[in-house]
Amino acid sequence: MRAIVFDGQTLSLRADYPTPVPDDDEVLVRVRRAGVCETDLQLIKGYMGFHGVLGHEFVGVAESGPLKGRRVVSEINCNCGTCTTCDAGRPSHCPDRTVLGILNHDGAFADYIAVPLRNLHAVPDAISDDEAVFTEPLAAAFQIPAQVPIDHDDRVVVLGDGRLGNLCAQVLARITKYVTVVGKHPEKLALLQSPPDGGDYIAPAATALLFEFEPSRDYDVVVDCTGSPTGLPTALSLVRPRGTIVLKTTVAGEQTMAWAPIVIDEVTIVGSRCGPFDRALKALDANQVSVLPMISARYNLSDGLAAIDRASGKTTMKVLLDIQ
Ligand SMILES: [Zn+2]
Ligand SMILES: [Zn+2]
Repeated sequence: MRAIVFDGQTLSLRADYPTPVPDDDEVLVRVRRAGVCETDLQLIKGYMGFHGVLGHEFVGVAESGPLKGRRVVSEINCNCGTCTTCDAGRPSHCPDRTVLGILNHDGAFADYIAVPLRNLHAVPDAISDDEAVFTEPLAAAFQIPAQVPIDHDDRVVVLGDGRLGNLCAQVLARITKYVTVVGKHPEKLALLQSPPDGGDYIAPAATALLFEFEPSRDYDVVVDCTGSPTGLPTALSLVRPRGTIVLKTTVAGEQTMAWAPIVIDEVTIVGSRCGPFDRALKALDANQVSVLPMISARYNLSDGLAAIDRASGKTTMKVLLDIQ
């Protein structure tokens, strides 16, 4: 089968990659469409030391099992199901987990992927393939309210106008009317004003360009979606004493900064990763979120290297891969 493979040094398109053979608890999924994510770009820079087929945001058709013939999306953490962490209800933190396209498990930039049956969710008919590709990052955005209590009058800043910042802003705008999205690109910020057809979309209250934004240290919650080492220091300059910073960004390599202000101001820092797929599918099904305006380009899997190159462009939002 075709696959986009990173060997630790170089990225290549392979025509002869072996089709995965599913384990007993796994299902073979024929991939229809996949999305390129910031994490993929970080992996190519050495994050996680990943080797194998990239790609973890996708929709496909189950080839076997109880969902055979259905369109499916897949949670990305493959847990063991038997350790104390899994038993304690934290399967996404299973120490023996693999992660699709990120950690010891081949991903979805390929004709086929093998995934555990328990990771799969059937996609409602009303959700198109293009929309379904956003399920995984949208679920990650819904992880914020799952972790941090946010009040309807909390003042929230989302730092970053890229793919994840956009989705987090949309999710948070449904909770509080005081969401400000701060970015560097007017055309990306403008996408937040594009409601989907039907549904009850709620746009964030305000957008601002970073260089024009007047910082004041009175925000209850600041969400860092910048993908940049400068995100956390910027968030610290905005959050109020005893406020909360949510880190959605994973940056390859080390970061240094002064930690004393976090102690002095008793700031809570919350790391936030994967989230609830059922919640994301529900929001897509009800047109509560607007994802299609984020699609900047689409490529066939056979042009996958060009797609990944395009995804790293400064003005690019989401790049999709058409696979079948
Ligand atoms: Zn991703
Ligand atoms: Zn486990």
